[in-house]
Amino acid sequence: MPDTPAQTELLSLSNQELTELVQKLGEPRFRAKQLADAIFRQRRESLADISTLPASLKSRLAQEDIRIGFPKIEARFQSVDGTVRYLIAFADGQSVETVWMPEGDFGEAGDGSEAGEEEEDGYRLSATGFGPDHRVSDIDSKIDLGDRDPKLAQRNRKPATGGGKPVAARRSRATICVSSQVGCAVNCQFCLTALLGVKRNLSAGEIVGQVLAVLRDHSVELDRERVNIVFMGMGEPFLNYENFMKAVRLLVQEVGFPESRMTVSTSGIVPRIIDFGREAIRPKLAISLNAPNDEIREGVMPITRKWNVEALLDAARNFPLRPRERLTFEYVLLAGVNDAPEHAREVVRRVRNIHCKVNLIAFNPGPGVAYTMPEHERVLEFQSILTESGIAAFIRRPRGRDIYAACGQLKRTVA
Ligand code: SAH
Ligand code: SF4
Repeated sequence: MPDTPAQTELLSLSNQELTELVQKLGEPRFRAKQLADAIFRQRRESLADISTLPASLKSRLAQEDIRIGFPKIEARFQSVDGTVRYLIAFADGQSVETVWMPEGDFGEAGDGSEAGEEEEDGYRLSATGFGPDHRVSDIDSKIDLGDRDPKLAQRNRKPATGGGKPVAARRSRATICVSSQVGCAVNCQFCLTALLGVKRNLSAGEIVGQVLAVLRDHSVELDRERVNIVFMGMGEPFLNYENFMKAVRLLVQEVGFPESRMTVSTSGIVPRIIDFGREAIRPKLAISLNAPNDEIREGVMPITRKWNVEALLDAARNFPLRPRERLTFEYVLLAGVNDAPEHAREVVRRVRNIHCKVNLIAFNPGPGVAYTMPEHERVLEFQSILTESGIAAFIRRPRGRDIYAACGQLKRTVA
């Protein structure tokens, strides 16, 4: 597997590594804190922008070819629903996609916390009241969640800022969908990213850099606004496990995101699910189930031949959940393939003894992918079979479909 290019980028360094670096350069330890503040909190793009550092240290860093590694936003695509899809490029010219959803897609709840339950209210509304193609503006009028809190509502009414760039109205519950690899090797048959194959892993700094670039583009103040992160962009995070986990720790410890506001989705890399359960700091876990049995899952997700549905569910069953946390199963509904009532009943039988919820995602179409979207009635029927059997099930609203920003549509499309 091609790995990250050799480079020293400060965005990949933990506090301890930054400290070792400044000491190696003959500087006092507090320089590490200044550097960390400048790059992770103030989102400085280059060393020249950091006024707290002495020129001598800046030139030493430059001599050693040490850079911040802040990625470049190469393009932005703005959806009618406010979603922004970014093409973000790194030092070697490779690029990934990162998506900003001003109101989230409601797929990031799942721990049963207050925040989670609020988000699930949104699911219920969209599940019962609207079809998959309803514009967000239709929904906004009914779920103006910001208005529950007068202070937030006030802020939400302020015009958006963002350096004159296309930015939707400021919301209090935005979500950033982050990529973990350039392309993906897993080859799920319904996913556009799979068509790229995998080019390379992203470094921890490249994963963190996507978040910082988007926060900076929207002038987000993290202590005043609630932003979620979902690791659901291009790539399989658990096939780039070490860098992904390092990025998580940097986001929690240096950037200041609570781990409860992060969710990672995996196609089902069973040994890494087990490792992940042992991590002291970790996001919530979502597993892309997508089929009720091996026969169907092998057809849509060839990785099932390596870890079958039972092995996956076993890992899920044994996953050490935190208090009030529950696991999420994602289930992409593909018309005529896995969306029949008997499939829903089979899902019920298989996940019944797992503390979980199921997020249903109607297939997002794309060129070169041979599936079709299910009828909305079919999606609702699937959902009610689950909910009537006591399994929480929510329908995820498609976000940014018109700009190829929705789940499974990330393929570095440039028009
Ligand atoms: N690689 C990880 C995370 C990225 S994909 C994973 O597969 O879990 C995020 C979610 O999008 C997954 O649940 C995946 O099943 C779903 N997805 C992929 N292609 C899709 C498509 N065309 N329509 C709807 N959802 C899709
Ligand atoms: Fe990779 Fe996830 Fe797409 Fe499967 S669905 S090909 S694992 S990005």
